[in-house]
Amino acid sequence: MKKRIVILGAGESGTGSAVLALKQGFNVFVSDKGQIKDKYKEILAGHKIKWEEGNHTEKEILSADEVIKSPGIKEDTQVVVRLLEKGIPVISEIEFAGRYATGIKICVTGSNGKTTVTSLIYHILNKAGKNVAMTGNIGNSFAMAVAERPHDYYVIELSSFQLDGMFDFKAEVGVLMNITPDHLDRYNYKLQNYIDSKFRITRNQTKSDFLIFWADDPIIKAELAKKEFGMTLLPFSDTSVKNMAAYIDDKSLIIDFPNKTNLMTIHELALKGRHNIYNSMAAAIAGKVLNIRKDVIRESLADFQGVEHRLEPVIKVSGINFINDSKATNVNSTWYALECMETDVVWIVGGVDKGNDYSELFPVVKQKVRAVVCLGKDNKKIMEAFKDRVPTIVETTSMDEAVKAAYYLAKKGETVLLSPCCASFDLFNNYEDRGRQFKAAVRNL
Ligand code: ADP
Repeated sequence: MKKRIVILGAGESGTGSAVLALKQGFNVFVSDKGQIKDKYKEILAGHKIKWEEGNHTEKEILSADEVIKSPGIKEDTQVVVRLLEKGIPVISEIEFAGRYATGIKICVTGSNGKTTVTSLIYHILNKAGKNVAMTGNIGNSFAMAVAERPHDYYVIELSSFQLDGMFDFKAEVGVLMNITPDHLDRYNYKLQNYIDSKFRITRNQTKSDFLIFWADDPIIKAELAKKEFGMTLLPFSDTSVKNMAAYIDDKSLIIDFPNKTNLMTIHELALKGRHNIYNSMAAAIAGKVLNIRKDVIRESLADFQGVEHRLEPVIKVSGINFINDSKATNVNSTWYALECMETDVVWIVGGVDKGNDYSELFPVVKQKVRAVVCLGKDNKKIMEAFKDRVPTIVETTSMDEAVKAAYYLAKKGETVLLSPCCASFDLFNNYEDRGRQFKAAVRNL
């Protein structure tokens, strides 16, 4: 009898898994407790895959040989608990697709910078003329890319939730950008659980595999010191040079793998700001590991167009520069955004607070921020945190109002920065919606 694969959640990863599972000859059933988007229904129907929505029918699900769970579904959901009780393996889409992918897998994780680094590495491989797919958390499922056609390289952005369902999967090249507290609600409020999840990127790696990582991250450093790891370590840093695979020397980006080469000056990098120096170093090392020519790597890092909603320049209005950093949904990413601002800033901040500790921002806010525009349904915590630390602070409850207030407060030569530090679900569908509304409001000024 055909092995039965049940897929929980018919979003991007679930639909891709269903198509791949069908292609591999399994008996496939898809179950989504919510409503399935039309575009995914069309794909399922096009492949004659059976599905249900609005319910998880236990009879259909508990008869599975193996279950692929969407990263959005929590481990303690009733149906998942029942599956685990019955000893039915529950895996992630990445684990499943990894079994059938024949190309080299370059996997990028971290609390911040994943999408940027994934896009940079893809850009390098693409420019080098390689047969490459960009997949994972970035929005295109890995499984669908595997189902479509063979690729020589897969650049895969991985969230901690995706890593949680991975067991036998191996990244030939792993990239771990940083670890700062995030999503703790899904990890029993224990930072170590979240760290363990991120470190699953190193699972099954041996000497011939690589881990590219930020050497100055205190959490990564401490974790690596705990035991012997089997893979080849490729650290990067902008503060030390010894034993680094990439470092900065007198404003030049040096790659020291497999031999030392001066790649370019940091002024030539397309992406500005200290965090983007890290992102560029990580991508450059990946390029070298994959034997891409130095001039292709240099050119790619110099002409990269940036990713929407990440420190994205919008326009200048009356000499005021507007920047959209809507993707900054935690304190750490906003810290880097403020840190790289070269003028005084009117800062738009707020949304759904994920248990933020704003005190980490106090020094950089003192240095750079002239006015704060709170944008959220409930601005109390931000008002409390910053009201005595900036000359001006105002409250707003819509994007239009926030942009007008910021425009009114900003002076010529200053920057209005949307870097919310918070999730967007109080007033917007998601961070993309928030970013687009910001850009539209700015263009309407
Ligand atoms: P992710 O995919 O991990 O959320 P992104 O590349 O989308 O990361 O960037 C998210 C936010 O974090 C952006 O606001 C960006 O400016 C900031 N950021 C990007 N790279 C880093 C980094 N290496 N360290 C800290 N913050 C970063």
